[in-house]
Amino acid sequence: MNDYKFKVYYIDIQDSDEIKSTQKQLDVANAKLIPIKTPKVEKELINKIKDADGLIVVESQINENIINNLEKCKVILRTGVGFDVININAANKKNIAIVNVPDLWTREVANHAMALLLNLNRKISISQRDIQNHVWTPTLPYKVGSLYKETLGIIGLGRIGSETAKRAISFDLNVIAYDPYQNEEYFNKRKVTKVNLEELLIKSDYISLHCPLNKETSHIINKSTLSLMKKSALIINTSRGPVINEKDLIEALNDGEISGAGLDVLEKEPPDENNPLLNMNNAIVSPHSAHYSNESMKTRYIRFGSEVAKVLNGYMPLNLVNKDISNNLKLK
Ligand code: NAD
Repeated sequence: MNDYKFKVYYIDIQDSDEIKSTQKQLDVANAKLIPIKTPKVEKELINKIKDADGLIVVESQINENIINNLEKCKVILRTGVGFDVININAANKKNIAIVNVPDLWTREVANHAMALLLNLNRKISISQRDIQNHVWTPTLPYKVGSLYKETLGIIGLGRIGSETAKRAISFDLNVIAYDPYQNEEYFNKRKVTKVNLEELLIKSDYISLHCPLNKETSHIINKSTLSLMKKSALIINTSRGPVINEKDLIEALNDGEISGAGLDVLEKEPPDENNPLLNMNNAIVSPHSAHYSNESMKTRYIRFGSEVAKVLNGYMPLNLVNKDISNNLKLK
């Protein structure tokens, strides 16, 4: 232990084979990875981690008091996409870099969105249910679009939205998107047409949600936005459950206001057993698994180590959360 220059505490993890790949990356910065369980009492946690040069955090709250007691910490990495467990203002005051790895499963989520779209379009799950009910009809008794000349509307053209667009274009779909924070040039580069939300709802045969959950996007799909969609429209959500008002969606699916939904995320997870969406013929649900692949799971432990090592070695991480203090961090 004494041979190492830095200490990095990985909070809330058991020592395991998986974190050996994190240690391997930290070796580059001469840093020792120390896995710890979060003690019940905050004071104990502070005593354990106060000499940290870096922290890797899963779910534990790293509040102002904890941050104020860190003697020399340079970097806190949050293993998921969100970073609300960390008090950013307190970290900013101490020039601690907050890092996350939001790009880890971009491909997987885009693949999943396409898988849901294709499943709904090709009626795979519906056909399987029919077959299980002893109905075999190659001439499908449903409206089936051919994708060609049809339109996919993407809400949120960020990392995952852009990857979904790329895949959809290769399936001959025309892609339009609503993203008020990306400019025309950004859209053109992706061969996607910039539209407003109303136009997207009216024109799309398929709608795929890829925006973050925030005040603007919470229940962005609701009774009134659903009413603008085509009756044949299929909606796909791999972003966050609460961007859709589920009660309104269930009503729209039951009343034929729209034709189907493919959902990887729900307002409540895991859902109540009696959530109607779990047993509807025109809805398919997956268990918030869009990010999952053996590759993405394996890579994450490597990335946690390499991102922390970068900061300890004086380099900018791939994704700095508190960009507003980047000048103060003096990273190359
Ligand atoms: P990103 O930040 O790269 O992209 C989000 C895009 O949404 C940005 O381009 C942003 O400008 C846009 N946006 C912001 N507010 C908007 C609004 N009001 N209306 C329309 N667009 C808006 O994020 P990402 O990596 O593409 O991830 C997108 C979302 O996917 C995440 O926020 C997360 O909730 C979800 N996600 C889900 C899984 C899963 O397993 N299902 C895994 C990873 C991420």
